[in-house]
Amino acid sequence: MTRAGAASNAAPVLEVFASIQGEGSYVGEPQVFLRLRGCPLRCRWCDTPGSWRLAADQTARIDPARGPARRESVWTSPFQAACWVAECEPGAQRTVSVTGGEPLLWPEFLLGLRAMVGSRRIHLETGGAHPRTLSRVIDKVDHVSLDLKPDLDLDPPEEVPDAGTDERSPSTRAEWRAARRASLALVADRDACGKIVVSGDRALQDFAPLLDEVEDCAPNLRVILTPATPVGGVAAPPMELVLAVAELAGDRDLDVRVVPQVHRLLRLP
Ligand code: SF4
Repeated sequence: MTRAGAASNAAPVLEVFASIQGEGSYVGEPQVFLRLRGCPLRCRWCDTPGSWRLAADQTARIDPARGPARRESVWTSPFQAACWVAECEPGAQRTVSVTGGEPLLWPEFLLGLRAMVGSRRIHLETGGAHPRTLSRVIDKVDHVSLDLKPDLDLDPPEEVPDAGTDERSPSTRAEWRAARRASLALVADRDACGKIVVSGDRALQDFAPLLDEVEDCAPNLRVILTPATPVGGVAAPPMELVLAVAELAGDRDLDVRVVPQVHRLLRLP
């Protein structure tokens, strides 16, 4: 199906599957992952580059609790997505982790999903580049996991044709700073966390501006430091660097945790 034949609140789904949350404040919680396609950002340590672009021949991969995985139409309504979530739950209802790609490309889908998943919690994982769109949906989600990205880890964005938001991605250091500050102000004092990927390509002082922004805009936000997984030529950080960044956060009285990508340690999807 092309976008032209889909509902106005449809989003392109990459996959739906059950697993264990591997990152952030809810690490270790069994969840169902609803991964949407499309991302304009180009993080150098991205481990899902297959989510970036939309193409006519794409399908959604559904991995139900019973029976083999199968392929379905990629453009999906909130109702259909909620049905797939229920199909993937092995037992009791789970929190739905909406991830990507960048889910904020599809705000109408997110708004519609709230009414379709019943009492399940919705956790939103976002790159933090679209604060205006985040402000539209934030009251419909139960938790926001917000990436705080060092500018040096980003290549120039590539906008996604057919995206459901007209909010452009930041492309300059000043625009990124404004987007991060606005996003932090939105999640301040909510059920949220800020995730910082620490790669071996960065120096300690590269992280100070991010931590200053958290201190200014969301001082009660839990900050999760995630050592980068070495993909695409990105280096894993020395543990001394990770611990030094944690000390910088502590100097600012921030609530900081160091959490590796647990799903990778457990060899889960
Ligand atoms: S925001 Fe996420 S999906 Fe997009 S490039 Fe960065 S890590 Fe990859």
